[in-house]
Order: sequence, then structure tokens, then C-alpha cells
Amino acid sequence: MRITRYIVITLAAATFLTGQGMHRETAERMKDRGLSTLDSYEMLKELTGTIGHRLSGSDGYEKAVLWSQRRLKEAGADSVWTEPVMVPRWVRGPVEKAFARSGGKNHELTVCALGGTVGTEKKGVTGRVIEVRSFDDVRALGESAKGAVLFFNRPFDRTRVNTGEAYGGAVNQRGSGAIEAAKVGAVGVIVRSMTNAMDDEPHTGAMRYDSAVPKIPAAAVSTMDAEMLSALLKKDPGTTVTIQLSAQSHPDVLSSNVIGEIRGSEFPEQIVLVGGHLDSWDKGTGAHDDGSGVAQSIEVIKLMKALGLRPKRTIRVVLFANEENGLKGALAYASRDANVRERHIAAIESDAGGFLPRGFGISADSIKFGKLTQYASLLDVVGAGKITAGGGGADIGPLKPFGTALIGLSPESQRYFDYHHSNHDTIDKVHPRELELGAIAMAILSWAIAQDGL
Ligand SMILES: [Zn+2]
Repeated sequence: MRITRYIVITLAAATFLTGQGMHRETAERMKDRGLSTLDSYEMLKELTGTIGHRLSGSDGYEKAVLWSQRRLKEAGADSVWTEPVMVPRWVRGPVEKAFARSGGKNHELTVCALGGTVGTEKKGVTGRVIEVRSFDDVRALGESAKGAVLFFNRPFDRTRVNTGEAYGGAVNQRGSGAIEAAKVGAVGVIVRSMTNAMDDEPHTGAMRYDSAVPKIPAAAVSTMDAEMLSALLKKDPGTTVTIQLSAQSHPDVLSSNVIGEIRGSEFPEQIVLVGGHLDSWDKGTGAHDDGSGVAQSIEVIKLMKALGLRPKRTIRVVLFANEENGLKGALAYASRDANVRERHIAAIESDAGGFLPRGFGISADSIKFGKLTQYASLLDVVGAGKITAGGGGADIGPLKPFGTALIGLSPESQRYFDYHHSNHDTIDKVHPRELELGAIAMAILSWAIAQDGL
């Protein structure tokens, strides 16, 4: 029995190694073709250049739906379709201004409306400013916060090597700051921008309300002006801030996810999903967030078709609607009836910027995780062999109940939040070869999984 087991294990290992060997030749071909053509960059340039930003419910988003269907067809997808989804429509409007009044003088603050905020009356809201770093600070204020503008000024933890972790440690101020502030009677919030960069650019992003407390206006302030406001407060504790916003929420509108696939030759009902989100914020052109993931995902199909490859299992590109302010596209996809007969064995998302890929972060059970780590040396063909536990992406997260292995492309993270959700997120910040290397890494991994199963 022991010998039998030994033989079985040896055979399994040998089969796997042969597979790896075969995959290596394919991986080399993908690398050679991808780095010669840089098609993902050409696609991203066109998306950002001809359409620009693509907030849910905007004309830009609907143009991107048409654009990506055309690009998926041109890439050679066997079928391309859209999936209907209702999404929120929030419009920033032309006015987003704030100033501090301190020591008898006005000081302009560079701000932008946070996504989802209510607008203000024309004269704005004004209140004494109170600087806070945490929700504990807010609760401790109690009655004294009545009528105040709370200024959330907890910076990124600069000691974090991975900037995504620093973002995770600060972003609740943006997401829930207005709720916590309203609970103690504040009339508005100003939130330090979610970035390590010290500059004069405000960064937007989603914020939420709670129906149990009043909806108060919320704006992000640039990191430089956050420092200035903090300094003004130290000199003059009576400093006030006025916020003027013209933002408005409208009823939900009908929109779409965009889907294209190469059908598997042997197990078409088994799906390896590759994707990113098609929407972006309305600042910059969403080049890194997440035009990169969109272009890289389409490139996965394009590379395979160009090389005459047909996977055993279906490789499906899903370009999700409304990741930024609702996740409605991801929720609609995960609740499709088709998920009963189809089986998503793995989902790979690129939504951390089009920077040099280093590897993949994986959320899966230990057996699947163990199998996937064996592709590390294969992914080293493009320097993306660093496999770490944990990861995935907001859009693929809702597939977790299906037992799908959730996989996120992990690019180098130092510059992402310098640009994220701001006017700085534009095509000139994307390096064509870095973007393409990420696309090739996704193509290699999705191909290997589609051939071997999981
Ligand atoms: Zn994103």
C-alpha cells in the first residue's frame, strides 16, 4: 500500500512537472508576443484618450461599454455580451470649494467632493474645525462636536512597505467619517487625502451614509492643505471652515457588465475568470484604476488567440460595472442563475494599478493554494513569481461562496496611491512594458489553470 501510494504521488508529480514544462514554452511565447506588440498599452491609451473617465451612470461609462465590446471582439473572443445591472448615478457638479477662516484671514483649501456626498446650499456649511485622528476621538468629543466641521487627519502609516496596507489603515475616515461625525452633531467633514504623496491634489473616493443620522457634506483635502489646516488650528483654536459643494445623487440607472470569453475545448462549463472594473472615478482618466486591469484582461484573450491557443477550460473576461461606488456589477455577476451550472474554479483580478507585476495574492483553501504556488517558477518568466496568501479583488470577492480561488495581481505598490482617485491618474503615469508584463502574467496563470484545472 505504501508503495502504491508512492507510485501515485510520483506519477502525479511527474504529470504536474510535464505540464509545467509544456506551460513554460507557452509562457515564453506569450512573453515574446506581448513584449513585442505592447497591445495592452495601445488599448489603454485609446480607452483613456478617446473616452476619459467613466463614472457609473455617466456617458463616459456607456461609451466604455461599447468600446470594450468592440475590443473584445477584435481580440478574437468566441462570444461577447453584456449583463444588465442597475447602478447609482452621483454627479459632482461644478462647485467644490472650501476655505478656513483663521486669525482674521481666509485661507483657501484645495478640496474635492467625496463620492456620494450630499451637496450644500450655495453659501455652504460653516463650523468650528475640530481635528480628529480616529473614531474614538470623535466619540470622546460628545456634545462639544455639535455644529462643528470634523477634520479627519490620520495620515498613511509611512512605515508600511505595501502602500495598500497603509490605505487600509486610513480609509475608514473617508468611508465612514461622515456617519461618525453626524452621530455627534457635526455639520460637515474634511478628510485628509488617502495618499503618501505630499502635494496639492485632493483624492476622491467612496463614502457612505447611515439612514439613522443626518447626511452631512464630506470633502477630501490635499495633504499639503491638511498640514496647513492643522497648523492654523494650533495657532488659532477658533478656526472655522466653510465647505461648498454642488454634488447631487440621482435615481439609479440601467448599465452593464461587459463579458467576453474563449470557450474551453474539454470542460467549457469550468470557468477561469479574468477581470477588472470598467468604471472609474471622475478625476483623471482612471488609467491605473482600473483602465489597466481592463486593458490587461482583454489582452489575455488577445494573446491566446494570436498564438492559436485554445484552453481546455473557458477563459472569461469580465469587465465589472460600478466597483467604485456600489459594487453593483460584481454583485449582479455573482448572483447570475448561470452560476449554478457553471463552475468558477478561479478568478483573477487586476485592480492595483498597471505597475511592474511582482506576483499574485491568493485567497483559497490550502490544497488550491498549494497547487497555485507551484506556478511560481512559471510566472518568473515575467518576474511575477511571488505568490502570497490573501488577496483577490473587490469585484471577484462575491464569488467566494462558490469556492472559487480568488487571485489578485500584485504589482509594485509605491506609486499607486500617489495617483489613485485623483487628476493624477492618467496615461502618462503608466509604463507600457510594465503594464504588458502584468497582462502576460495574467495570461500565463489563467492558461495554466485552464489546462490543469484546480
Ligand atoms: Zn479600482
